[in-house]
Amino acid sequence: MSDADERPQAAIINWLTESKRPQEYYEAIKEKFAEERDLRLKYRPEGTSQYTSDLDGEFARYEIDPYGGEITPREPINDTVECLFIGGGFSALLTSARLREYGVESIRIVERGADVGGTWYWNRYPGAACDVVAYDYLPLLDETGYVPLRAWAGYYEHNTLDQNGIVGRHPALDNLIVANGFSGHGIQQSPAVGRAVAELIVHGAYRSLDLTPLGVARILANAPLRELNVV
Ligand SMILES: Cc1cc2nc3c(=O)[nH]c(=O)nc-3n(C[C@H](O)[C@H](O)[C@H](O)COP(=O)(O)OP(=O)(O)OC[C@H]3O[C@@H](n4cnc5c(N)ncnc54)[C@H](O)[C@@H]3O)c2cc1C
Repeated sequence: MSDADERPQAAIINWLTESKRPQEYYEAIKEKFAEERDLRLKYRPEGTSQYTSDLDGEFARYEIDPYGGEITPREPINDTVECLFIGGGFSALLTSARLREYGVESIRIVERGADVGGTWYWNRYPGAACDVVAYDYLPLLDETGYVPLRAWAGYYEHNTLDQNGIVGRHPALDNLIVANGFSGHGIQQSPAVGRAVAELIVHGAYRSLDLTPLGVARILANAPLRELNVV
């Protein structure tokens, strides 16, 4: 069987990305997105300086897991797995799901919260409305057969270099693969990221989608790959 036969989704991606209109059409759309992005970023004049990762003082409460209850001390788990995920957000969940499809069973997710979900474990906004209908793109719904009753929305944090995710092997540690730094589109991107990282682990290279531009190298080189679709 040819490589293409094994991966029908690659044909769909090619079909979707095949250019059917003149390039000017796409450039005009990108320009419009860039205008909207600048408008929104300028709305807060302090820009990216409004963000902090310092959880001291009044922010210390954000380090505490309010949903976990009392922590019962236990012996540390000491084992060896093929794939260890640090953090159980959508990136790890989607990558794990795709790895299972490849037959990788030896997977452990280490999460400092009491359960998985990442951003959506930690942030539960009572009564939050929705900016985009979540079940349009919430990953793995078809596989699980579950349709959420409510959609989500709110504010989002972002990677202050270029508002884009960081995905790929760490240049200094070959068996450390990162998938983080996502901004307001992390859920929508997680199906692609999960598939790509699973391919990187299993095949040693991307196959369906080349995510090299999102790699760590651009961060080290301080070369932003600007996400235009900041909403
Ligand atoms: C209010 C809000 C609205 C959003 N709306 C949308 C939307 O409409 N569409 C969309 O696509 N995206 C949206 N996003 C963004 C999206 O939710 C995130 O980009 C995505 O969930 C990030 O997933 P992740 O797995 O990369 O990281 P995270 O969800 O941040 O998960 C990382 C996990 O790692 C854990 N962790 C970190 N360090 C350690 C450690 N040392 N040891 C153990 N565990 C650790 C953390 O506790 C966390 O659970 C929104 C985000 C927010 C906050």
